[in-house]
Amino acid sequence: MAVIRGRQFFQNPGPTNIPDRILRAMNRPAIDFVQTDFRAVVDECVDGLKYALKTKGTIVVYTASGHGAWEGALVNTLSPGDRVLVCDSGYFALHWAAMAKAHGVEAEILPGDWRKGVDPAAVEARLRADTARDIRAVLLVHNETSTGVANRAADIRRAMDAAGHPALYMIDTISSLMSFDFRMDEWGVDVAVGGSQKGMMLPAGMSFNGISGKALAATQSARCARAYWDWRNLLTDGRQTGFSGTAAVHLWFGLQESVRMIREEGTDAIFARHHRLAEAVRRAIAAWSADGGPQLYASDPRVISDSASAVLMPEGHDAEAVRRACMDRFNVSIGGGLGELSGRVFRIGHLGDLNEPMILGTIASVEAALRVAKVPHGQGGTAAAIAYLAETPQPGEETAA
Ligand code: PLP
Repeated sequence: MAVIRGRQFFQNPGPTNIPDRILRAMNRPAIDFVQTDFRAVVDECVDGLKYALKTKGTIVVYTASGHGAWEGALVNTLSPGDRVLVCDSGYFALHWAAMAKAHGVEAEILPGDWRKGVDPAAVEARLRADTARDIRAVLLVHNETSTGVANRAADIRRAMDAAGHPALYMIDTISSLMSFDFRMDEWGVDVAVGGSQKGMMLPAGMSFNGISGKALAATQSARCARAYWDWRNLLTDGRQTGFSGTAAVHLWFGLQESVRMIREEGTDAIFARHHRLAEAVRRAIAAWSADGGPQLYASDPRVISDSASAVLMPEGHDAEAVRRACMDRFNVSIGGGLGELSGRVFRIGHLGDLNEPMILGTIASVEAALRVAKVPHGQGGTAAAIAYLAETPQPGEETAA
């Protein structure tokens, strides 16, 4: 077997690279999670998550992958037989809907064009038609990681307001948070669902809910069975004091470092960095798409995602062959297609702890993999990305000069 030297390039749309600072912050002896020192860690993390989510609301953190926070959002606010409107945007939206159904909730799917993202006008029309006000919640995946489509969450809030509908607004911000803008309070989000392993730059295993006053009030009447996820057991006077078992102290140490790094860089600079690196990837994809080559799956400029790009293969070519060539020949890990997009798209993650050389190395390796897999494609993708990065200043560079 060939000896592999150097670091693997890990460009999945999550989990993402964990910065050394976070790894070092977790490399500490265990402490008892009932001691005062740990209370201070939790409080700093919760305040940091409020900063990230742009909320003054309540935060609950679980020891769980993102699925846990999905479930927490549902079971704390809904009852069996309730109707929710799930905005179909792809694999993750449909899986959240399936989870709601498993709890006896009527999950109505609002159909949509996956390449264009959820249409706010369709949400408004459906809510206006709901004259009996049966729909208890609207569920939206902000960034549909399976398609690289960033849904227009603020416009959908406006659509709900225009319809004058009282439904709760629940948003999965797992792959948008700390990659591009999410504003929980300004957008009237009632439950935000976040996860550790994407823009938060942590290992998988932690997820959280941001909770509005309206959602907190809904816990009183919600009748879905709940134990592990029950906000009432985790909160005292609106602050997290419980952990549903032993607290995962090392993940909390990691989260403490993550929120410190986020505050140091600042949300605007984080978003600008993501936008610039994502744009470099898009320039490369645009070059590859010439002459019938692979193209960006997102087809509406209003919904392109700064955290992940899905690349649609030309007819008759298998995305898995490109993904395998990346991994086996160049030690670069990228994402494959999920569900019905399996084999049809590959996905490049451009979120989290990331800089220019990492993104250029990835683009060059994908371009080489297209050649290895004999996929017809336009030339000059890497050159286009280099030109864009060379000619566009880094965030803050303009003012520093
Ligand atoms: N929602 C979105 C948008 C995701 O990207 C993912 C995972 O990638 C999930 C939910 C599920 O999260 P987890 O795999 O951490 O349970």
